[in-house]
Amino acid sequence: MASHDPTVAEQQRLKARALEIGNTLDVDAEAELRALLQSPYPEVRRLAASALGKLAPRRPNEFLVAEALARAAETDDRPQVRQYALKALAKYPRAALAHLDRLRDLARNPTLRDYVRAAAAEAVAAAQQANRQAYARTHHWCTRCRRIIGEEDFMQGMELFGKPYCRHCLDERILESKNFELVVDEAKKKRTEDGTAVQSQGERRIADFLSQRRIAYVYDERYRMAGDVRIRPDFYLPEFDLYIEYWGMDTPDYVANMKKKLFLYQRAGKKLISLSFRDFDRLETILAEKLARYIRL
Ligand SMILES: [Zn+2]
Repeated sequence: MASHDPTVAEQQRLKARALEIGNTLDVDAEAELRALLQSPYPEVRRLAASALGKLAPRRPNEFLVAEALARAAETDDRPQVRQYALKALAKYPRAALAHLDRLRDLARNPTLRDYVRAAAAEAVAAAQQANRQAYARTHHWCTRCRRIIGEEDFMQGMELFGKPYCRHCLDERILESKNFELVVDEAKKKRTEDGTAVQSQGERRIADFLSQRRIAYVYDERYRMAGDVRIRPDFYLPEFDLYIEYWGMDTPDYVANMKKKLFLYQRAGKKLISLSFRDFDRLETILAEKLARYIRL
């Protein structure tokens, strides 16, 4: 018999919607699924988590998805929802890496159901595995002293700070961070002199260089997709119709993205100044040299 209770009807509608998105792999509905993860109905949240997992091969914004799933895994009051969120998160192993500490805590939290802890342990294992694969064939060096480092040290730095350090610099870095959580959070947002939130020290220095010279800039911290290319934060100088990109990594995926993005700039006939973490030690000097081609400083 059909129910006329409006909340039951609403719940049915939302469940059907979550299932539909999961079945049609509608990657554009990813934000809708993240919203459904907050639904008052546990079954809707479970289906939303499951559908987010199914979307993984379609490459939605994996950082936002992973953040939403990690939050559900930690805070949902239904163990089944937590379990499904963790299973889905394991399908975004590289993005899950940013939540490794939270996942490890879940895996060893004795107050949780066994199946929730098992799902958390699986997500941890998936993240570590993906990280090893992504970096297995590249050389690594210490962010701080530039010494070539081995894979173990590299992994440890990436897991703790999102940057590679040699053993010596890593110890130093840990000592510097009195409160570990705070440091990790801080690494995500850096404030420039004019108060803009940027994502790395390099970007902060570029922003400060521009504002000190009264060069107006627009900074965009959103992740957007242009075709299959993830557009990273960039600077746009409206007075000169000029773009500045700071390439912060050299992982294979990142470099592939970078090349596609450079191609897009070129094809669109955009003026672009390209800087990378390799310029870090002389960032202001190099930026000034490159800017001088377009602007009288
Ligand atoms: Zn070092």
